[in-house]
Amino acid sequence: MKIEEVKKIAVIGAGIMGSQLAEILSLRGGYEVHMVDMNDELVGKGFQYMEERLERFFVSKGKLTAEEKQGILDRIKGNTSPEEAVRDVDFVIEAVAENLALKKDIFKKLDESTPPHAILASNTSYQNISEMASATKRPEKVVGMHFFNPVAMMRLVEVVRGARTSDETVEVTCSLACKLGKEPVVCWDTSYGFLANRAYRAMSRETVQMVWERVASPEEIDKALKLGYNLPMGPLELGDMVGAWAVRAAAEQDSIRELGSEKGRLHPLTRAMVRAGYTGGPGKKGIYDFWKEVLSKW
Ligand code: NAD
Repeated sequence: MKIEEVKKIAVIGAGIMGSQLAEILSLRGGYEVHMVDMNDELVGKGFQYMEERLERFFVSKGKLTAEEKQGILDRIKGNTSPEEAVRDVDFVIEAVAENLALKKDIFKKLDESTPPHAILASNTSYQNISEMASATKRPEKVVGMHFFNPVAMMRLVEVVRGARTSDETVEVTCSLACKLGKEPVVCWDTSYGFLANRAYRAMSRETVQMVWERVASPEEIDKALKLGYNLPMGPLELGDMVGAWAVRAAAEQDSIRELGSEKGRLHPLTRAMVRAGYTGGPGKKGIYDFWKEVLSKW
């Protein structure tokens, strides 16, 4: 298959990432998109996220007219039946929760319902592509397509090869990323966290360890990294913003399985924070608050 033959794309999951993927596929790619979630309320929420983003970042800034915004939304069809939504698509991007068993189940169903030529991609951040591919009869057409949040701003897409992913699948996936204005980087799925997350996680974990040792406050550690390495945000403030601590706690078993108990185990400070409700994420306390309210008093 060639990129020119990709006309219709399905996105499975209408959450934070799925709704942004549907949006960019319509906005930048001009694709007809079928966006699937488990019920009408969740699909509706996906549309609401899109509508708010398009209004805030495009229409209010004069980058799109109200009619153009409506045209982008009209190309996206909501659906609660994955079988129906994927029946005649050429490409699927799965963006459901980060759970390997759930993803394998979805890939099995996608394999049964999509046309044989369709490429099945996953937006997973950490899970193994070969294992998802093993749930299908077309492992050569299964690939990772890892976008970064916020999708409209972040230029990187990691295109992740499973053991049996074909060159053609990698090529079409890279071309799709380029068509959406992104820069693809190809890697194998043998690396837990692929490229960017693997390296970033190591740095972030080290900064958590520095807080644990009371070398300096989270603010000072972030300041050192921002000024020393020109990072736009420190790893600790970013972790607080995106709720990385809760995500890591939830993924502990996966990371121990992939990295072994020494590297994969949750940092004791992260565990203590999450247990006390300092999970990070919108409107929630994180490591900055834990330092001020708890750790600096120990
Ligand atoms: P999310 O929880 O916001 O959305 C997941 C959506 O999938 C939910 O709306 C849920 O109802 C839906 N869903 C669950 N089971 C389903 C099923 N069987 N059929 C259809 N829909 C189903 O999660 P998210 O943050 O959008 O993450 C999705 C994926 O993207 C994960 O694999 C995650 O690791 C990856 N990812 C997330 C980010 C991020 O910053 N949030 C960045 C890059 C990659």
